[in-house]
Amino acid sequence: MHSYTLLAAAKINLYLEIVGDRADGFHELAMIMQSVNLCDRITIEPSDTDSIRVTCNHPDVPNNSSNLAYRAADLMRSQFPDTFAKYGGVNITIDKSIPVAAGLAGGSSNAAAVLVGMDLLWNLGLTQGECERLGAQLGSDIPFCVRGGTALATGRGEKLSPLPDLEDLYVVLAKYESIAISTGWAYQTYRQTYEAEYIRDPESIVAYGKKVHSGKIVQAIAHHNYSTIAAELRNDFEKIVLPEHPRLQTLKEEFLQAGALGTLMSGSGSTIFAIAQSQDKADAIKSHVETTLNSPDLNLWVARFAPAGIRVI
Ligand code: ATP
Repeated sequence: MHSYTLLAAAKINLYLEIVGDRADGFHELAMIMQSVNLCDRITIEPSDTDSIRVTCNHPDVPNNSSNLAYRAADLMRSQFPDTFAKYGGVNITIDKSIPVAAGLAGGSSNAAAVLVGMDLLWNLGLTQGECERLGAQLGSDIPFCVRGGTALATGRGEKLSPLPDLEDLYVVLAKYESIAISTGWAYQTYRQTYEAEYIRDPESIVAYGKKVHSGKIVQAIAHHNYSTIAAELRNDFEKIVLPEHPRLQTLKEEFLQAGALGTLMSGSGSTIFAIAQSQDKADAIKSHVETTLNSPDLNLWVARFAPAGIRVI
């Protein structure tokens, strides 16, 4: 049996609006997700034992059953028990480049790579849609990580509508190592502060989703109108995270000073990204921010908008 190596792309949110409450306890969201080519490398090999083993080279990522990559393999085992009995266990090796707990869906993208890789390893012939539906059982961001590119995500984030690719844009990602934000804290604090504004009625939520579908940023993406995309960037979590972490607000200001087209926090943070129209411009923005903020705690990367989430290499 072959082994497979896959590249799992990080995602950024160009738009993240918290619309309201859902009966299942999750929040109803309207998001625009974008893959960027800062990738983890996942290798999936058949094992001569009947177990699933995960190894990751990052100290903050668990090597046990709480790793999302393990949970994805375990889901495949329970969905396809006969295939598992035929082929046996798997060894999964994760080589991390995506910063951890950064709002870049690193764990979700690893799980997406395992679904796609095990489909290949076990010769199952699953469609992309089937892999997305399996992913939705594990986490709201995983269907997008399977599909990749540019997409509007509604519901918990698992309902995807494709948008035209924005392949000619670059991004500078910046993350303070010492600023870690728990997604749970972010949702809880947002709810405490803004619950009165939530939409609860399911019909109004559907109507609101339709409004976002035809909204300004979606139109701007369709027309590759970069200045309007930059002007319409939105992330509701900024309202609670930036006042707690003023260094992130300063980072945004420095990105704009350096000539970024636009800047935003990704997911629940703490990564802040800046958009640029060329690799040269992105490199110059990264150098400017490195020099002016001059902090050993701050890591920066330049990446390109990517048309896919998972690539087999
Ligand atoms: P999101 O944007 O979906 O909220 P994130 O980028 O903020 O995700 P992750 O990098 O996915 O966060 O990590 C969140 C937590 O999940 C970490 O505390 C980490 O220990 C755990 N985790 C489990 N599996 C993985 C994995 N394969 N890669 C990274 N983190 C993982």
